[in-house]
Amino acid sequence: MQQQLSIFDPFDGMRFGNHICFSCGTTIPENQQITIFPAWLMEKYGFAHEPLRLLDQSVVTYQDLTIPCCANCQTQHLEPLEEKVKAAVEQGVSGLRALDQKLLFQWLGKMFYGTLITELIKEQNPLVRPEYAVSEQPKMLLKFQSFFRVLQSIRVPMEFPDFLPASIFVIDVDASAEPSRFEFRDELSTMMFSLRLDNALIVCCLLDNAMIKDAMRRVWEVIEHKQLQPIQAAEFSARVFYAAYLLNVIPDYLVRPVKPQDDHLVVDTLIDDVTNVIFNPWQHSAYAKLLATVWAKWGITQEDILRDPQEPMSMLFSPEGEFIEFPKIPGQEK
Ligand SMILES: [Zn+2]
Repeated sequence: MQQQLSIFDPFDGMRFGNHICFSCGTTIPENQQITIFPAWLMEKYGFAHEPLRLLDQSVVTYQDLTIPCCANCQTQHLEPLEEKVKAAVEQGVSGLRALDQKLLFQWLGKMFYGTLITELIKEQNPLVRPEYAVSEQPKMLLKFQSFFRVLQSIRVPMEFPDFLPASIFVIDVDASAEPSRFEFRDELSTMMFSLRLDNALIVCCLLDNAMIKDAMRRVWEVIEHKQLQPIQAAEFSARVFYAAYLLNVIPDYLVRPVKPQDDHLVVDTLIDDVTNVIFNPWQHSAYAKLLATVWAKWGITQEDILRDPQEPMSMLFSPEGEFIEFPKIPGQEK
């Protein structure tokens, strides 16, 4: 098989370390690193020196978060991707929506994967014994392995004939009260990643073959065309995070056999939904608990949300199912 079409599987034998390029597996000097969050993004939003807490509870700054990456992957694959995304980010919501969703998946996926392998590299150190070791969770490792196979489309030309590995939502948020803004949240176990860049909120489940987006289709068809208030955007984000928590299947990806003249790989996907339930049942109490964490800054509690146990509070839709243009925030009515 041609070299450029060969797949690297670091999960086979757990090949993670500071001398292994995260992207292609080449051996590199230990100091050859790139930042997980691109320099242009850290500069634009001024968060390079902001603290970030890792799974093992250690605190680092965003600019300290780096992953090993060879010069070839950097210049040939990652920098061109950054250039395209940077141009889209300059255009705001419309630019991000117009961007090829596969590129957006790769860009978000690289940051997610970067934070993940930071954990895995730490766990390779025999002196580090985290309470919650990612490398000791077989089901999670299977997910990450599947995910990395398609994330390699950053480096290896790859076609996904009839699917996108992720659900990606680009939400337009009314940022008049909070003009320049960067927020980031990720959750390794559910493969969730969200980024707020000024008035664009990107919420993404990185490994669901768009099943969440499909399940939320009717809600999204309304929201897609609206500008949301921050409290509404937070609610929508909570719905996606909760749906990811309920997702019960792991997509698998199979590379079709390569012929000598091929210049790219074709990847098929397989979801074992015959024996599995795709989503576990929605529970208002669990959803309300999650929503309360994102609504805490508006002073709304889980109890408030569940005042009607059959109909959790919503700032997006009235009980009749109508979109709420101007949500009234409890405690802030005049
Ligand atoms: Zn490389």
